[in-house]
Amino acid sequence: MSKLTFRYRIYPTKPQTALLDSTLSYCSELYNAALQERRDAWRINRESVNFAGQSAQLPEIKAAREELENVYSQVLQDTLHRVDKTFKAFFARVKRGDKAGFPRFRSRARYDSFTYPQLGFSVKGAHLCLSKIGKVKIKLHRPLQGKVKTLTVKREAGRWFACLSVECEAQYLPPTLESVGIDVGLTAFATLSDGTEVDNPRYYREAQTKLRKAQRKVARRKKGSHRRRKAVQLLQRAHAHVHNQRADFHHKISRWLVNNYGVIAVEDLNVKGLASGMLAKSVNDAGWSAFLDKVAYKAENAGRGLVKVNARGTSQTCLCGTHTPKTLSQRWHQCSACGLSANRDHVSAQIILSRARIPPSSVNASH
Ligand SMILES: [Zn+2]
Repeated sequence: MSKLTFRYRIYPTKPQTALLDSTLSYCSELYNAALQERRDAWRINRESVNFAGQSAQLPEIKAAREELENVYSQVLQDTLHRVDKTFKAFFARVKRGDKAGFPRFRSRARYDSFTYPQLGFSVKGAHLCLSKIGKVKIKLHRPLQGKVKTLTVKREAGRWFACLSVECEAQYLPPTLESVGIDVGLTAFATLSDGTEVDNPRYYREAQTKLRKAQRKVARRKKGSHRRRKAVQLLQRAHAHVHNQRADFHHKISRWLVNNYGVIAVEDLNVKGLASGMLAKSVNDAGWSAFLDKVAYKAENAGRGLVKVNARGTSQTCLCGTHTPKTLSQRWHQCSACGLSANRDHVSAQIILSRARIPPSSVNASH
């Protein structure tokens, strides 16, 4: 079984939009109140309040605030679950001794989604039926597959989306012995061990230009003005557009990799204290880890292997094992021992692939 999320745009009518908006604001109110209770309990008595304790108070809260009857009860439960998750993560960080930022309140404007964790919704034809909201038009731009588990309704820059998480049977692809190593690019998106360069699509740059324009526009508008609010919404849309384009691109590349290779080797950049020279890579990391998530679930679903190898020194070693130090600006690999002369990233990708083939213990032992 693997989990997937399908995201579709929904088109609520004006009255439905008002209902969605008020659901968000009730949820954010509940979220903040639940957070407050836990904060006080922790700060004053060093006590932790749990989910069951908060959930048991819901009937009482509803009796006091009749408006909450307009929100599906499991949606409210889920809001308390979110607080619970936030606190569990907080205590886990405290336990590990990490710098633990206390869970924060979320303003109405920044609280932008609510979840039906189990029931209360269904997709019927071109409509999404939501308990307490109604039949909302949905555009299924790709078919919904698998067993639907949860629904999250999201507001993004004045638009609404339905994110349906589903479980589906793994569909293994015919096996292949082909394997590939991938190096994260600084200029190109990635370089493969066979020398293929995967470039960032050209529309990226165009979208970035639009984004900068939208940012300047916001900066020029007077704070608190209607025109500024408009400009902020345009900026949010530009951000969403860039995000979606990147996701599309990641989906295409990851699909292609999983279809063609049995083993996919990448660097594990998620390690503390990486060697110097890794900064530039970690700047790209946000995009890279979103990409790897997509490779990971597609690989799992197709019965392929994704191997994360030790990232240390992948660009400072020759295939023959000789240490070949380079600065970031040195784009060419030249080995004085074996004479190998090649594109730096191409060599790195091959090193990454070779590390996926030897047991990790012996890789670690050599450093
Ligand atoms: Zn060499």
